[in-house]
Amino acid sequence: MDLDMKDVVALCKRRGFIFPASDIYGGINGFWDYGPLGVELKNNLRDLWWKAMVVTPPIGPDGTPVQIVGLDSSIIQNPKAWVASGHVGGFSDPMVDCRETKKRYRADHLIQRIADKVKVLADIGSEEIKIKGKVAKAFAFPIDATNEEMDRRLKKLGVKKGWISHDGTMPELAFADFSKQDLETLVGPDASEPGTLTEPKEFNLMFESHAGPVQSDDNKVYLRPETAQGIFLNFKNVLDSSRVRMPFGIAQIGKAFRNEVNPRNFIFRSREFEQMEMEWFCHPDEVEKWRDFWFEERTKFWRAVGLASDNLQMRKHGDDELSHYAKEGLGTSDIEYKFPFTAPDFGELEGIAHRCDFDLTAHQEHSGQKLEYMDPVTQEKYMPHVIEPAAGLTRGALALICEAYTVDESRPSGVYLNFHPALAPKKAAILPLSAKEEHVGPATKLYLALREEFAVDLDIKQNIGKRYARQDEIGTPYCFTIDNDTIEDGTVTVRDRNTMAQERISMDKVAEYLREKMKPAGANQEKEAA
Ligand code: ATP
Repeated sequence: MDLDMKDVVALCKRRGFIFPASDIYGGINGFWDYGPLGVELKNNLRDLWWKAMVVTPPIGPDGTPVQIVGLDSSIIQNPKAWVASGHVGGFSDPMVDCRETKKRYRADHLIQRIADKVKVLADIGSEEIKIKGKVAKAFAFPIDATNEEMDRRLKKLGVKKGWISHDGTMPELAFADFSKQDLETLVGPDASEPGTLTEPKEFNLMFESHAGPVQSDDNKVYLRPETAQGIFLNFKNVLDSSRVRMPFGIAQIGKAFRNEVNPRNFIFRSREFEQMEMEWFCHPDEVEKWRDFWFEERTKFWRAVGLASDNLQMRKHGDDELSHYAKEGLGTSDIEYKFPFTAPDFGELEGIAHRCDFDLTAHQEHSGQKLEYMDPVTQEKYMPHVIEPAAGLTRGALALICEAYTVDESRPSGVYLNFHPALAPKKAAILPLSAKEEHVGPATKLYLALREEFAVDLDIKQNIGKRYARQDEIGTPYCFTIDNDTIEDGTVTVRDRNTMAQERISMDKVAEYLREKMKPAGANQEKEAA
């Protein structure tokens, strides 16, 4: 059944997962608050990521665990850092990135011209431009490129018939007007293949503030638009202060802020969100091996936390694509989820990017500090390359909610959230059958014992059916009911959220039962078990 986002948003609000920020003032576009259950879900995903990366990092290709250390860097950094990273500058206009050459162009400085070996049929109307017929190839050029320059480049790219001169029928369009579909066929100004240009993006996306009492340009600061730069800024500190040696990773989870032009789709694209990023520093000759390694590990992670269905898609660049990236980098492979609002398409959950040595080199240049690595054994000095698995924590939480949302008309709640027990905000509910002391007493005792280890609920009021319905809707995997038999023989009823089946187990065994069910959600446990 197709999931309606309206239902998901409504449940999130009704049950206390996610509220619009400043709700009583009518909200504020692009900002969200995580309620009592939302924060638990988000923390669970965060903790599992941290465990999979920092506490029990995976076993590397050589059979020993890889080294990753954690970091929590400041949201506000020296503004020069954002100049070096390319986030400041060329600024207030939409920009286009080339994934192949890593060059960035102002969208309004590019024009697109359609050159076709066969024919171009176009109508240039006063309001819109319609392109009829199939266009073989389209090329983007800097706006000031001469006809000769364009000619030369087209010949180089094998367009033998050359440039179709401007005779009034040749479409020549401002780049920013073009659709996503056009981008797939368009060849960037310095690229060798079509489809490497991103959609024009507002790069004036950093929130600004001022550090100190005076509001002048001299003390302007920015809220970080990604957690990654804090890692590059601390590369040397970490290397000098810990025992890590190449290759190694630095992981960070935290808030990022982007003044998105068009925040939309609930928490999918918001202006304040959380990221889970790890920068993996390695020798330039080993990037391909590590890219493949992290792509596989990260896929395993998302599967282990519950995105096991066809809704998860891995988009890895094929080997044919690889060859033309090889010189400038391996590009980005994505792990994508089919959200209700992207279906039948997929939306990015995590990108595994080869950032080359771009960031460290830029920070070295701008800061004047040496950031190269000297191999203590071979004495080789080099600038490390970086493979970066960058995931959205809040976007991940949304994927978990969408995946868990299960309609079931047969039960009173009509819907339940099928979270993996390790992700569920509440692991269990303790429900005394009645409000009588002989039920509430043992229930309270069990609750107090369990809460030392698990997030559990003690729910005394209302009839049992209503209490089950509430737990179903918030995705609590187990309900333990205390009734008259408990007094007799010390057993409780366990109700399974998904099957609604009930069994009796001894009250002493409840903690062990839950402990067993919480496993295995870490990405590395599968491997350890194998
Ligand atoms: P997009 O193309 O969706 O704007 P991006 O490619 O710019 O994303 P990255 O810079 O690679 O994203 O950030 C890494 C991850 O951070 C993304 O995969 C996504 O999960 C998350 N993310 C990025 N922007 C947002 C946002 N505005 N709201 C929520 N999550 C986001």
